[in-house]
Amino acid sequence: MELPSFRRHTEKTTVPLHASASNTKEVMSRVGKCLVFVGGGHAHLTSLKNLDRFLKIGHRVTLISPSSYHYYSGMGPGMLSGIYQPWEVRFNVKKLAEDRGATFIQGKVIKVDPREHQLFLDSGQTVSYDVVSFNTGSEVPMAKVTKAPEANLFPVKPVVNLLKARQAVLKAIQNRQKIWLTIIGGGPAGIEISANLLGLLDKSGGKGEITLIGGKRLLGDAPEKVRHLARESLQQRGVKIIEGSYVKTLEKGEILLNDGRRLQMNFAFIAIGIQPASLFQDSGIPTGADGGLLVNSYLQSVRYPNIFGGGDCISLEGHQLAKVGVYALRESPILYHNLRVALEGGTMKVFSPQKHFLLIFNMGNRKGIFWKKNWIWEGRLAFLLKNYIDRKFMKTFQVSGELQDQSEAIE
Ligand SMILES: Cc1cc2nc3c(=O)[nH]c(=O)nc-3n(C[C@H](O)[C@H](O)[C@H](O)COP(=O)(O)OP(=O)(O)OC[C@H]3O[C@@H](n4cnc5c(N)ncnc54)[C@H](O)[C@@H]3O)c2cc1C
Repeated sequence: MELPSFRRHTEKTTVPLHASASNTKEVMSRVGKCLVFVGGGHAHLTSLKNLDRFLKIGHRVTLISPSSYHYYSGMGPGMLSGIYQPWEVRFNVKKLAEDRGATFIQGKVIKVDPREHQLFLDSGQTVSYDVVSFNTGSEVPMAKVTKAPEANLFPVKPVVNLLKARQAVLKAIQNRQKIWLTIIGGGPAGIEISANLLGLLDKSGGKGEITLIGGKRLLGDAPEKVRHLARESLQQRGVKIIEGSYVKTLEKGEILLNDGRRLQMNFAFIAIGIQPASLFQDSGIPTGADGGLLVNSYLQSVRYPNIFGGGDCISLEGHQLAKVGVYALRESPILYHNLRVALEGGTMKVFSPQKHFLLIFNMGNRKGIFWKKNWIWEGRLAFLLKNYIDRKFMKTFQVSGELQDQSEAIE
């Protein structure tokens, strides 16, 4: 069904044929265009906060997102342990959009027709655009470990899964159930989840066994000192760490490792890495090796100049960027600027990714592991610094009464 407000325009838009023409004075004619944001993730936050700038000059703006809320991944593990409340960690993107006069559609885009400028939603709706921006993030490739997802299996994305997991574990503790928590994946997410599950058990007085299956080795790409600090912190607090083994399958409460070992579990967290959804490949839009929307330095599709994107769902031409929120946030103001240029003309800005970035792991006990280049240390100060940076970021974009909306209900 096509929504009346999204009927295609009969007027012709002046979109240049090649993305290299992006700095031409007038990419689109001046008034009344349809701008659609797909996904209300980190890379869209600057644009969403400033939507009135698009609307004031007559553009129609739509946000399509599967949920009214977007959860900030940097504080997600802390929400799992209870350091943070759900409302401290999320943005009400529906309200953010609607308060500024935009239309919010709850749903998922499953296909794009880049020639006809159409988006197809899981609900069957079709939405037309003149300019579209994707910030659809990434997903955990679950098929690598299980064919039949079951209860109490939590991929670490979307981050709201960590709230669902917290509620399920607390319920099991209340029912005095035996708890075997297994984390599959020894990257930064696997470390933070393990550490914050320790925090959750500590705070709630629950008893349980935590096992981290780290693949070849924990934090494979990190310097030895980071790996040592993370391993010590987890092992000293009772986490069993398995390295050198992979999960072959996971079903009916049992994990089978490639070395033949079998482990029991009743809660599993899947942190085996993330990749963009197949949306762009399925739609015949050029992608990078990981299936992300292939964009130039203006964050603009290399083939379709009215398609933009940011965050985990893009592949930046000539770079292999880590899937970290740091990049999504740095792209956010550039994307906002370039979308305005795409609609109104002007000169686009270039996104140049920084080579080194700071990572601080939240270790679930109000301590952190700080890592930037060769500067590596652990302690309370590292957690305080992360907490300060994260809360400052939240304050900038929580402008829709999030702290008053103290519901733990999950959409
Ligand atoms: C446990 C964990 C901890 C992390 N901690 C950190 C950290 O401390 N620092 C750091 O830099 N990075 C961290 N990361 C990485 C970080 O999560 C990602 O790099 C970041 O979320 C990317 O932001 P994004 O906006 O691209 O995607 P997302 O945050 O995933 O947002 C994408 C949005 O798009 C929506 N969406 C998805 N598909 C569709 C669709 N088809 N149609 C419409 N909407 C859609 C989703 O619902 C979501 O709201 C962490 C990751 C995990 C898993």
